[in-house]
Amino acid sequence: MIDPFGRPITYLRVSVTDRCDLRCVYCMAEDMTFLPKAEILSHEEMDRLCAAFIRLGTNKIRITGGEPLVRRDVMALFRSLGARLGHGLDELTVTTNGTQLAKYAEDLRAAGVRRVNVSLDTLDPAKFTAMTRWGKIEKTLDGIFAAKAAGLHVRINAVAMKGVNEDEYDSMLAWCGEHGFDLCLIETMPLGEIDADRTDQYLPLSVVRGRLRKTWTLEDTSYQTGGPARYFTVAETGQRIGFITPMTHNFCESCNRVRLTCTGTLYMCLGQDDQADFRKVLRAGATDADLETAIRAAIAHKPKGHDFVIDRRTREPALARHMSVTGG
Ligand code: SAM
Ligand code: SF4
Repeated sequence: MIDPFGRPITYLRVSVTDRCDLRCVYCMAEDMTFLPKAEILSHEEMDRLCAAFIRLGTNKIRITGGEPLVRRDVMALFRSLGARLGHGLDELTVTTNGTQLAKYAEDLRAAGVRRVNVSLDTLDPAKFTAMTRWGKIEKTLDGIFAAKAAGLHVRINAVAMKGVNEDEYDSMLAWCGEHGFDLCLIETMPLGEIDADRTDQYLPLSVVRGRLRKTWTLEDTSYQTGGPARYFTVAETGQRIGFITPMTHNFCESCNRVRLTCTGTLYMCLGQDDQADFRKVLRAGATDADLETAIRAAIAHKPKGHDFVIDRRTREPALARHMSVTGG
């Protein structure tokens, strides 16, 4: 699948639920209304849609959410997608907050998952609870070490927040080095109402990288995972650090991704509203050929790029939907 700007679309992110057991301050409001079950695709519907994407050239699928591992039948989806590895699908991965990883790490590995991204914004237990509103750091750490023990490669994702965790990146980089994890820092994106002013939270990663270079040797590397992170090797630890910089450096020119939500809406861009309703197509009795036609038609409308801006006058987010809808 090639989009109108010549970009091959090979990567599908699937948000399998809008629900979550945490309420990270940059992601959700504390009081969220979640979708009724009838609106959510079954795992069979999701698998069928993913299979159509794979037939059309998608070779990488990332399962995300909300918190994907709180969905009850999520392992059935991992198993059915895992069976497609080597048959068009090259990689199946997951982004998780880690709270359920102690329970599922072995099963994920058995289903064919080899790499997991775990969100951990701080190593300070009190700050972790403040940032996630409801979380206990021990649970996420147990999950991270269970993933390591199961032989999964772990990348720690941390959202960079001004005045909140910005004093911790050195210690997090050292901790990741010690345990064999990569670290990826992410700029906050203005998605959805969150009970706070996002202009107060935003910390440009260009500044962070400059500060890190005072302590660490960041060597250029061609390492790529198919996502938007730009990586460096940390000479002192041998691990990598990645930077996801949608605000300071727009990565749209090399975008290879589209995003499917748990209701079957396909978003062609994380930062735009262009979408296609696949639940309607599926539930109208579409054949596999109909699904493929609908996917091609959607890709033909992929926009050139996002234009994230926080309106400085109204201080409203660029998009009304939360990150938990599309899963990042
Ligand atoms: N619940 C899982 C987790 O936390 O990893 C998966 C879904 S979460 C929406 C995916 C990623 O998006 C996480 O790394 C999270 O930190 C990040 N994220 C959420 N809201 C964000 C925002 N407004 N800006 C930047 N990253 C955000
Ligand atoms: Fe939940 Fe992930 Fe959003 Fe945190 S970032 S509230 S863990 S979906």
